[in-house]
Amino acid sequence: MKLQEYMGKDLLRKAGVPVPGGQVASTPEEAAEIARGLGSVAVKAQVLVGGRGKAGGIKLADTPEEARQRAAEILGMEIKGLTVDKVLVEQQVKIAKEYYAGITLDRAKHRFILMLSSMGGVDIEDVAASNPEAIIRTWIDPAYGLTGYDVRAAMFKAGFEQSAFKDLQRILMGLYRVMVQTDAMLAEINPLAVTEDGEGIAADAKFDIDDNALFRQPELAQFSAESIDDPVEKIAAEAGMPYVKLDGDIGIIGNGAGLVMMTLDVVKSVGGKPANFLDIGGGARAEVVRKAFEVVLSDPQVRGIVMNIFGGITRGDEVAKGLLEAAASMDIRVPVAIRLAGTREEEGRAILEGSAYTPAPDLVTATRSVLEQMRAGAGVPAGGQS
Ligand code: GDP
Ligand code: MN
Repeated sequence: MKLQEYMGKDLLRKAGVPVPGGQVASTPEEAAEIARGLGSVAVKAQVLVGGRGKAGGIKLADTPEEARQRAAEILGMEIKGLTVDKVLVEQQVKIAKEYYAGITLDRAKHRFILMLSSMGGVDIEDVAASNPEAIIRTWIDPAYGLTGYDVRAAMFKAGFEQSAFKDLQRILMGLYRVMVQTDAMLAEINPLAVTEDGEGIAADAKFDIDDNALFRQPELAQFSAESIDDPVEKIAAEAGMPYVKLDGDIGIIGNGAGLVMMTLDVVKSVGGKPANFLDIGGGARAEVVRKAFEVVLSDPQVRGIVMNIFGGITRGDEVAKGLLEAAASMDIRVPVAIRLAGTREEEGRAILEGSAYTPAPDLVTATRSVLEQMRAGAGVPAGGQS
């Protein structure tokens, strides 16, 4: 789960890290109001992608009226497919130097790794590709944590401004503390700025929290729905169904992660390309099945659907009812094939008898029939279905 910049900066501020004073706004009026107390400000789009500056999502303003105008320009803007609905209005930093600081996990070494570079402000992936020696790597011993010595040695090698070492060390150690406290897998400050007055300050903040740790991060977990930027993933998350977007065109619905993975393999082996992974879990009732269709059909790339149900605690009759409810409540314009086996299979088949959704004898036959119908042009894009 990624955190918006303003949330990351709040965490850093609470950990004693210097960040520009500021607040988040959803309207130009709010932005002007916030700017009134701050003087010159930066107005920054809050979207979960990098490169906002280049995309026009970061603008400077010297008066509240200017802040209102800049916010009006940025709010509603699309950056890499995401619509901006919040801006961070914060004290403008008079930046003299831009460094890069990031901490991530080195899974092979079982350690956190601190990365510093004096080539900050730009995409670190570009630096890694063109100038790998400009990134100074320091592996952190989990028994000691990030020590002052580690930090100073790394800053020295990276060529950071020595007069700012004290501030920068405070920032880096704070970044590490926040990372450990929040179960983050990635924590990044880019740019880590040195101001014209020689002070260190975190001008950006990026955190990616381990979703598997959200159960013990209740304060962050409450923002998890907000942090999902894919609209289909959002519907699935709200419905509590594990969903993964893939790049093909066949929607996959199954009960149980293992069964869904096996279905992906079968679809691929007969020449299809899965559009997603959707697990409705064990014991799904009709309403859950209906919801699953809603999720899959809201992906405009889906041109056919394969549903694979192996009933243990899941009942074939409930699945059949859900499928008919889905067909009644939405306009399913793509071919659907279903494999239905196990508990209450006969009852399920009886319910579907005579409908457009008669279960196939087996999964391979089901998949082939969807592929054939798609090739014959039956798979009109699902986009626009309600
Ligand atoms: P990102 O490009 O999405 O990572 O957004 P950043 O927050 O890193 O900002 C991109 C660039 O905008 C920075 O590298 C700075 O050059 C510039 N910038 C951001 N905030 C300020 C600010 O307060 N003052 C000044 N002068 N420049 C800023
Ligand atoms: Mn940045």
